[in-house]
Amino acid sequence: MTDDELEAIDARARAASNAPWKVVKGEYDGADWLVATLGSDGLDGLDRTVTTDHVHASDLRGGAAEDAEFIAHARHDVPALIAEVKRLWGKVSRPTCPACYPGFGQSQLCVRHAP
Ligand SMILES: [Zn+2]
Repeated sequence: MTDDELEAIDARARAASNAPWKVVKGEYDGADWLVATLGSDGLDGLDRTVTTDHVHASDLRGGAAEDAEFIAHARHDVPALIAEVKRLWGKVSRPTCPACYPGFGQSQLCVRHAP
């Protein structure tokens, strides 16, 4: 991934409406800021709406144009970021002990924690 690609992703993320976002299934009640309406998948007949999640009006930034760019590019940006993280993980020694570094999905205990 180039610096320009990373800067473009960062710019789209910073310009979009504030996180966190959530998916509302069914009728949109207007309690949070509307990001996008995606309709129904046809299986349950319920619309999917993306909204902010408890973002106060005074904190809100972004708008429909910025959110649309962020959403449309996410289909490419997220896989590109995952690929970059995996590439970089291949260049560094990763923690192996789940007792020392919980949450990394490791399975090999270090000498201090091995039975
Ligand atoms: Zn350990």
